[in-house]
Amino acid sequence: MLLKDKATLFIVATPIGNLNEISSRALEVLKSVDVIACEDTRNTIKLLSHFDIHTKLITYHNFNEKESSKGIIKLLKEGKSIALVSDAGYPLISDPGYELVNDVIDEGFNITTISGANAALNALVASGLKTNHYLFYGFLNSKSSQAKKELESLKDFPYTIIFYEAPHRIEKTIKLMYEVFGDRKAVIARELTKLHEQYYRDTLDKLTNLKDLKGEIVILVQGYEKKDIQIDESELFNKIDILINKGYKTKEAVNQISEEYNISKNTLYNSYLKRNK
Ligand code: SAM
Repeated sequence: MLLKDKATLFIVATPIGNLNEISSRALEVLKSVDVIACEDTRNTIKLLSHFDIHTKLITYHNFNEKESSKGIIKLLKEGKSIALVSDAGYPLISDPGYELVNDVIDEGFNITTISGANAALNALVASGLKTNHYLFYGFLNSKSSQAKKELESLKDFPYTIIFYEAPHRIEKTIKLMYEVFGDRKAVIARELTKLHEQYYRDTLDKLTNLKDLKGEIVILVQGYEKKDIQIDESELFNKIDILINKGYKTKEAVNQISEEYNISKNTLYNSYLKRNK
């Protein structure tokens, strides 16, 4: 018997496409728990039928997380074991479950996770973008004006950023990213683990030309990188001279201009000194 401890919430990751990506541990848990709490019974039934699993299902929705959570806590109090799944990938990752996990923690029941697929991580490791640090942002706001504000707040973030997006918004979102981030490297990872899996690795500018992308999509954008001076140096030097004439010390003037142009203070300082030699 797998479940020695009763009254446990198992957070079970399920496939994001290819059903064979479910682990034997996940199948064992889904078979042996008393109840599976899922987002949409129609989707979870497909998964369970494929593996001949007949565990009782209850729904756990985003729009009534508090209420659904109460029902699950009641079952845990009765000593039942519960598996939480979402339609795909990890529950809680742009999917419901946050309220429930917190309620279960507050009530002192066990929680454990059963590993599996996650679209963001699949996309990241094959993207070719930096993986040492990254930010999973998930979905932007569906209103363009709000999404733009969110992107602006991420403009200077120096590490790879991962976004989820609905297919019907992809073109709009890539345009908005180009408008806010400028021409950075980006990757669109499409239909991961499925038959038509595809990666588009290019710059945001070029990616704006993609049309009619269908299926599920992750967008990854390179983090902000400070550029060495490519701007007209003489223009910067003039600005530094003006500040020095106003009474600024050289270092202060250089600092102010490098901040204004978002460029390295040391590089600007060294080139400025070189010019004055
Ligand atoms: N919980 C899931 C996870 O762990 O990845 C994410 C669920 S979220 C509601 C759905 C979004 O995830 C999609 O809009 C898409 O951005 C991304 N996604 C899910 N499956 C995908 C796949 N097979 N290929 C590419 N993106 C996928």
